[in-house]
Amino acid sequence: MKYVDEFRDPEMAKVLLKEISKISDSLAKDLKRPVYIMEVCGGHTHSIFRYGIENMLPDSLELIHGPGCPVCVLPMGRVDDCVAIAEQENVIMTTFGDAMRVPGSKRSLLQAKALGADVRMVYSPLDALTIAKKNPDKEVVFFGLGFETTMPSTALTVLKAEADGIKNFSLFCNHITIIPTIKAVLDSPDLQLDGFLGPGHVSMVIGNQPYNFIAEHYQRPVVVAGFEPLDILQSLWMVLKQLSLGEAKIENQYNRVVPERGNKMALTAISRVFELRQFFEWRGLGSIDNSGVQLNAQYAGYDAEKKFVTPSVVIADPKSCQCGEVLKGAIKPWQCKVYGKACTPETPLGALMVSSEGACAAYFQYGGARIENMQAKQSQQSHQPQQTPPIIPIHPVIEETSL
Ligand code: SF4
Repeated sequence: MKYVDEFRDPEMAKVLLKEISKISDSLAKDLKRPVYIMEVCGGHTHSIFRYGIENMLPDSLELIHGPGCPVCVLPMGRVDDCVAIAEQENVIMTTFGDAMRVPGSKRSLLQAKALGADVRMVYSPLDALTIAKKNPDKEVVFFGLGFETTMPSTALTVLKAEADGIKNFSLFCNHITIIPTIKAVLDSPDLQLDGFLGPGHVSMVIGNQPYNFIAEHYQRPVVVAGFEPLDILQSLWMVLKQLSLGEAKIENQYNRVVPERGNKMALTAISRVFELRQFFEWRGLGSIDNSGVQLNAQYAGYDAEKKFVTPSVVIADPKSCQCGEVLKGAIKPWQCKVYGKACTPETPLGALMVSSEGACAAYFQYGGARIENMQAKQSQQSHQPQQTPPIIPIHPVIEETSL
């Protein structure tokens, strides 16, 4: 296929849906429950709702929306730290648009900007470096976040800052890494998952081989998937086909973009500047060992956490906020008590309502009448997955917000 229309061909979609139903119904009959497939990536979650895919799937197949939206898993404490840096004198804070709206316990970066902090939206970390060059009397901080997809551009910016001798630039690093996250999900004893749609963008950087342990150790199929409707349907069919044959292997549906061994230049840049953090906190999920990165000792001079004093307090989500349960797949977004009431894309209480890749924002934007169908569908399904939190929190919760 060459053109985007071909990836949205309704006739081909009908053929795939028929095949999906046939295999899924047969598997569910044997399992005596629906087949559970997790789409790890927030981009897939967005596409699934945008194109109405979830509503077209048979009752015998249920998609679990995974924790693959980096904005959504950013905990309040980290936002508070970022706001604290932004509000210091002489600082210009820079970041992507979505990140400016993530709620902290007191305010978001956007609200800090309204109160006078110098917070600027950029399209690339290199824009932040340009701002640093133009403002030598200011400290310019880039609030970096994302999985391996965005990590290379941040790493290359740090390398360029070093090459250009820029000293007034630093990184508030919130980059996270996908493999420990999937492993934590798989290690959850009661989380029933039969297979995965692998993340397309992350895999473009890391390739397919890092997922081998999922097939070899956990015997679960993974199909790295593209983002068009037929990409997703074909990938679901490929996962189901493996399950029906009793196979567990890593397949690459998105091979027009994802190289088997990833992007060597990007991986080299990442390994030059970053090292794993011992643990990193995820919103609603607690702490996951080795799931975040920080600048290594050689580039510590560019680490905003070493340049600035921050509160560094772990903050619990508001009591009414059920982001963690949505992230774990335990409830659907519309089942959150504040969905569409206190929490909307205009007034997000939780981070899942901020980013277009967040499950709540996707349901809100594209759900509409389909939510009623989903409610009916769910009430008909007597056997729901018995899910427990996949992560054992390490950090104690120090403060609670009052909402
Ligand atoms: S509706 Fe808002 S508070 Fe509830 S889970 Fe979604 S983002 Fe979180």
